[in-house]
Amino acid sequence: MLYHSPMQRIDHVFVLTGAGISAESGLGTFRDVGGIWATFDPSRLATPEAFARDPETVQAFYNARRQNLLAAEPNPAHRALARLEAGLAERSGRLTLVTQNIDDLHERAGHREVLHMHGELLKARCTACEAVAEVRADLTTADPCGACGCAGGLRPHVVWFGEIPFHLDVIEERLMAADLFVAIGTSGAVYPAAGLVGAARRAGIATREINLEPSDNAHLFDAADYGRASETVPRWVDGMLRHGPCAGP
Ligand code: NAD
Ligand code: ZN
Repeated sequence: MLYHSPMQRIDHVFVLTGAGISAESGLGTFRDVGGIWATFDPSRLATPEAFARDPETVQAFYNARRQNLLAAEPNPAHRALARLEAGLAERSGRLTLVTQNIDDLHERAGHREVLHMHGELLKARCTACEAVAEVRADLTTADPCGACGCAGGLRPHVVWFGEIPFHLDVIEERLMAADLFVAIGTSGAVYPAAGLVGAARRAGIATREINLEPSDNAHLFDAADYGRASETVPRWVDGMLRHGPCAGP
């Protein structure tokens, strides 16, 4: 049952995370000053055309990011969201977590269900047969696919510019069933993820932004917390769990 603000019943929370939630784990964000795209040219690294033209350079970029990820640890923000997932489930509620991140820090923090709309760095996909396999070691342009045996076609299982994100149907369905939409650590610059807050608003769903500073979409949120995710997210989660289902946005 849904009551409108200021006192609203919240059973199903929909959280969208971005690079900002992993920044304090030592993984670079993309669009901040000094971020990954300030150092590397995305058109040379994160497009299907770049992989066709220069697979060695693309593999080397993702190999380096994979090794960084394997050395990183979840931070208090990832762990707080895993607590929220468990706490909502205990009171017959639900958390839908959609992440734009390709890291596995939500999973390592104990989160049970994570929808990776931009894919996963610790997986590789065969361009010949589409089989997906776990990968932790560096990928080379000569590696054979374990499923079909074709060599040279393994690519990072991530969504590149110009490709369609994963899980869009289930994301839309879960969003429409949510009572609260929360965006954490995302700049609101990459679509379709950046369009979710507008879709939530049009459906009458309360919205909250948790970010270091106001994002491009800040005006679309009903409530906001600004600061480091390792502090703001645990504080918000503690409030949600303390107030029970009748919390504000
Ligand atoms: P982005 O780099 O565009 O924006 C990051 C946002 O996080 C910014 O608004 C910034 O102010 C905020 N931020 C930075 N440090 C923060 C902190 N300590 N606490 C809270 N917020 C903080 O990232 P985005 O919006 O996720 O962009 C989307 C694209 O970036 C996606 O395609 C995603 O796949 C990719 N990406 C993923 C990772 C990862 O997997 N860890 C890392 C970098 C980029
Ligand atoms: Zn194959």
